[in-house]
Amino acid sequence: MSGVNLNGIVKAYGTLQVVHGIDLTVKEKEFVVLVGPSGCGKSTTLRMIAGLEDITAGELTIHDRVMNRVAPKDRDVAMVFQNYALYPHLNVADNMAFGLRIRKMPKDEIKTTISEVAEILGLTEYLERRPADLSGGQRQRVAMGRAIVRHPKVFLFDEPLSNLDAKLRTQMRAEIKRLHKRLGVTSVYVTHDQVEAMTLADRIVVMNDGAIEQVGTPMELFNNPANTFVAGFLGSPP
Ligand code: ADP
Ligand code: MG
Repeated sequence: MSGVNLNGIVKAYGTLQVVHGIDLTVKEKEFVVLVGPSGCGKSTTLRMIAGLEDITAGELTIHDRVMNRVAPKDRDVAMVFQNYALYPHLNVADNMAFGLRIRKMPKDEIKTTISEVAEILGLTEYLERRPADLSGGQRQRVAMGRAIVRHPKVFLFDEPLSNLDAKLRTQMRAEIKRLHKRLGVTSVYVTHDQVEAMTLADRIVVMNDGAIEQVGTPMELFNNPANTFVAGFLGSPP
């Protein structure tokens, strides 16, 4: 079974085609990073997987089920955004519980799930606080918590760390890695940051101008870049 499979995926806005027929298989439990310059189609690709954008052509499967016409809430994916998208009027516990209440999870089960996930993320002491009273790193943890509590089949990350300062970014990178080791959830992670890609990825997908230039492990890409674009982007030696 594959985690996520893109088969000839195309995205066009009117007559403007921005993703030109992408083929990619993300294995179950794999952590794949889409990397490339701003505007190359990373977010659009991720949003098609999430169901937040229609797919113009091609086929998307998640765990071997065709998803093209399945509503976002029925895809069993959870997305973590750069801007956290937390509810300012709700405390940490209620922010994390929001999606579970919508899905009608029983109250005591919600409580257990929230405390488990808070423990994993080091948020136990902050459950009563509102987002405004948290640091950037803590807010990003809550955003991740909200994704984790749903036990999705797939995590989608869109530049989740780009609003954080360099030190916190390094720390959160390590946390995301640890979380992935612990939870083993299939993940697709978008960034324009080469270092982030190299440190997080099982495999990296280098995108440029709506197409894939190369797919491989960080070492494969670094040591054997397919072309000058990949070499330049990942900073391989000439
Ligand atoms: P990335 O995430 O790699 O920076 P995006 O996926 O956001 O790139 O954008 C890819 C291309 O699609 C860009 O040229 C962008 O301007 C264009 N684009 C994104 N959203 C829209 C939209 N709603 N309408 C028209 N063009 C769009
Ligand atoms: Mg983007």
